[in-house]
Amino acid sequence: MVRCNKAGCRFCEKGKGKGHGPIWILSVSLGNRQVRQIPIPSELKKEVEESRRAFAQMQKVLKQIAQVNLELFQERKRQRR
Ligand SMILES: [Zn+2]
Repeated sequence: MVRCNKAGCRFCEKGKGKGHGPIWILSVSLGNRQVRQIPIPSELKKEVEESRRAFAQMQKVLKQIAQVNLELFQERKRQRR
């Protein structure tokens, strides 16, 4: 929910109004502590949410692969000589 802070707005009235929305914001991490916030139109929310979930799943798998590779590397080091 967001507040427009316009005088007399019935949605933003203190103690009564809930503000405007709900609106949906996608936070995209760009690295270097940079985050971009992108407003999502409600008709695209489902699609964005599915993409976000797929991205999170892919990151999880990549971390697992990295972990396996690290273990394999350490095993190879142990078996030297
Ligand atoms: Zn308002």
